[in-house]
Amino acid sequence: MVRETGYYDQLGVKPDASLDEIKKAYRKLALKYHPDKNPNEGEKFKLISQAYDVLSDAKKRELYDQGGEQAIKEGGMAGGDSPMDIFNMFFGGGGRMQRERKGKNLVHQLGVTLEELYNGSTRKLALQKNVICQKCDGYGGKKGTVEKCSSCKGSGVQVRVQQIGPGMIQQTQSMCSDCSGQGERFSAKDRCKTCNGRKVERKKKILEVHIDKGMKDGQKITFNGEGDQEPGLEPGDVTIILDLKEHPVFQRKDNNLLMKMKIRLVEALCGFKKTISTLDNRSLLIHSPPGQVIKPNDLKCVHNEGMPVYREPFEKGLLIIRFEIEFPDDHWLPEHMLPDLERLLPVREHIMLTDDMEEVDLCQVDFESQQRRNHSAEAYHEDDEEERRQTGVQCQTQ
Ligand SMILES: [Zn+2]
Ligand SMILES: [Zn+2]
Repeated sequence: MVRETGYYDQLGVKPDASLDEIKKAYRKLALKYHPDKNPNEGEKFKLISQAYDVLSDAKKRELYDQGGEQAIKEGGMAGGDSPMDIFNMFFGGGGRMQRERKGKNLVHQLGVTLEELYNGSTRKLALQKNVICQKCDGYGGKKGTVEKCSSCKGSGVQVRVQQIGPGMIQQTQSMCSDCSGQGERFSAKDRCKTCNGRKVERKKKILEVHIDKGMKDGQKITFNGEGDQEPGLEPGDVTIILDLKEHPVFQRKDNNLLMKMKIRLVEALCGFKKTISTLDNRSLLIHSPPGQVIKPNDLKCVHNEGMPVYREPFEKGLLIIRFEIEFPDDHWLPEHMLPDLERLLPVREHIMLTDDMEEVDLCQVDFESQQRRNHSAEAYHEDDEEERRQTGVQCQTQ
């Protein structure tokens, strides 16, 4: 039994969610609320990262399920990782060390259809990235004219001392705004006009993403060196993460495709022919021969009509069909003809009637009015009359 659901709610999953579901939920939300894309949602980004940090770790999750957030804090499990570290660990963007040697890695989510994963496809993706300014070669201005920033004396940070109460002083550090933390700057006349001294420019870049047959939801495609450039650093990478959109007919489970099919009672009993439109627009004809009975929720499969296997696209999984039987409505057959039908059906089971049996009504289940009734039963606790009257109405409608 779960005590609190706050972390689950943050990720929008149920308390019995599998690790895969938790990862998928985090993946989607982390990309949506990443400060790069949504600078105003820093708090939300922090909350989902915390939730993921706890729920993705079996030990922490168990502790949380038993004792809630309190237990996590008391158990010293709150975790010292920053939201960005959690993000980088998840998306493989490298740790702090790597970030110092490399420009920033970019992560993009690419929505794909099941058809694209089945047939393979090439998608063009436009992204904005920092490239080294061509005009000044990433120097930022005229060579040899760079000066130490006078505002921060070359340190890149500005220190502010504030008195916040009697005898209490607060010291805050922030990036120097005059030199953008660089510690050095160009005078206005020597500064590169193209990049305005920033050494890099924002440029649009088109990436061609090849989606191979059989790729999976959440699969990463990495473009080495296509991330942000920064002078003196190796460029970062671009990681594309495939995000499968729901399909109206098929669900993918590993290399198998699952679908539901409604058939009529006559088809379930007497056989049928049906068509299925595949993800590459072929028409499959399936048939159930006379004599074969299909029961509700029966599973049947077609070999080699599932998803192609990644990197072995000629091999495919199963197409699995779950059958639903549509029964006819009340009074579909005139009552006097029922005995004719009965003669054709397997014989019914007869029961022995005895005197001690109580005959009762068989009613439609209606949870809503039951709930309403419970409410009014609480409100008019003494008024048994009211309760009895309502119970009476309940079954007469049948
Ligand atoms: Zn420049
Ligand atoms: Zn400065």
